[in-house]
Amino acid sequence: NVDWQGKHVTVAGLGVSGIPAARVLHGLGAVVTVVNDGDDERSRGQAAELEAQGIAVRLGDGATLPESTELIVTTPGWKPDKPLFTAAAEAGVPVWGDVELAWRLRGRDGREPAPWLAVTGTNGKTTTVRMLASILEAAGLRTAAVGNIGVSLLDAVLGEETYDVLAVELSSYQLHWSPSLRAHSAAVLNLAPDHLDWHGSMEAYVADKGRIYEGNTVACVYNVADPATEDLVREADVEEGCRAIGFTLGTPGPSQLGVVDGILVDRAFVTNRQKNAQELAEVADVNPPAPHNIANALAAAALARAFGVEPAAVRDGLRAFRPDPHRIEHVADVAGVAYIDDSKATNTHAAEASLAAYDPIVWIAGGLAKGATFDELVTGCAGRLRGVVLMGADRAVIREALTRHAPEVPVTDLDRTDTGAMYEAVREAARLARPGDTVLMAPACASMDMFVNYNKRGEAFADAVRTLAAESA
Ligand code: ADP
Repeated sequence: NVDWQGKHVTVAGLGVSGIPAARVLHGLGAVVTVVNDGDDERSRGQAAELEAQGIAVRLGDGATLPESTELIVTTPGWKPDKPLFTAAAEAGVPVWGDVELAWRLRGRDGREPAPWLAVTGTNGKTTTVRMLASILEAAGLRTAAVGNIGVSLLDAVLGEETYDVLAVELSSYQLHWSPSLRAHSAAVLNLAPDHLDWHGSMEAYVADKGRIYEGNTVACVYNVADPATEDLVREADVEEGCRAIGFTLGTPGPSQLGVVDGILVDRAFVTNRQKNAQELAEVADVNPPAPHNIANALAAAALARAFGVEPAAVRDGLRAFRPDPHRIEHVADVAGVAYIDDSKATNTHAAEASLAAYDPIVWIAGGLAKGATFDELVTGCAGRLRGVVLMGADRAVIREALTRHAPEVPVTDLDRTDTGAMYEAVREAARLARPGDTVLMAPACASMDMFVNYNKRGEAFADAVRTLAAESA
């Protein structure tokens, strides 16, 4: 238990995690200095607000370690090779992320700290955590989906509301900076290359993800189809009695959850000795019932079952779950064609999941590729493509992969990177589609070349589809 009174803490970064962290630490009696790389109008406004409360802020200097720093609390996005952290390592100053801070502040007010059920993975984190919270709620537990979504972790730990259990989404960055975090149970959904520029290598990325299993007490949940996740369980140092639990879209083995004849079944947490499997829910209870999303549901179910939730609550929670916007969201049917917004598919691994769910598809793709290659993605869906519409900065890499692996598929290259391109893309997709087809906007790329973020990209798509619907009505 840390004595915060008079402790010199440096908060790295004035962002969504830095500002609340600075406030909380100041409130605990720490002597807080915020350091920030940027020195623009926005950060000056934020600095003025903090300074008015007695918190020191240094703008335009995120590299120098303030003298007398005893602890750094960093924005998770700050790269480990930054000079600030090199200086900290030399001076023996520990570095915590926002998650580590929240973890350490649990139970400060004498409340029994709520256990954490934690989720990470390259794709599907938000969906799985929200499904999990929905299941826990259906079981009558006081819970919240926290992390990069919903309630902030600091609020969940220190706020008015009390919880029986938390469903926590953790990014690879946050895990990197969370040395002492110990979850009740945790799941790694999948591992595909992402954010490698930050972590330095695939090995480092995978190792940071694996931190989520360290010290688990009840269950480490892994993806049977992704052996790297099981390797991480094997390498983790867990509490005695903690079990490895797999999830699979196929028939489950012992200690696994899986699917049999359209039913989600549990062979891991079977209490009735007469039965060797417990039915949880139907595939049709999962929204949407696409393969990757059934995997998410199984992972959520595994964590809930590890916490002792009854099968009926798993079913009720999955039925009550509604996906967030821009994640395989059905926008409208126009002239017998379904229009699906998967703007959140910002990498090829995510796009692969939604492209696997439809047939035939008119695919709208392109944006910032972040150095990705598209050969595998295109090979996997070539046979189901009616046509492709490309836009955005890095569309050429996708076009070349299509030329190599799907030469017969008609491709329209819009050669545009302005926001208005989405209207033309939807119109062009409508021209290529036939009744019964699906127009799928799953760009496999980040959005920032054309839009502020993926939300805006999804909204632009939905607007364009509504315009199309109005025109054809
Ligand atoms: P995250 O929080 O990890 O970014 P989301 O739940 O927001 O994940 O989903 C992001 C995108 O990833 C979705 O739009 C979907 O296309 C894809 N996706 C979701 N779950 C999976 C999964 N289990 N495997 C592969 N792709 C997935």
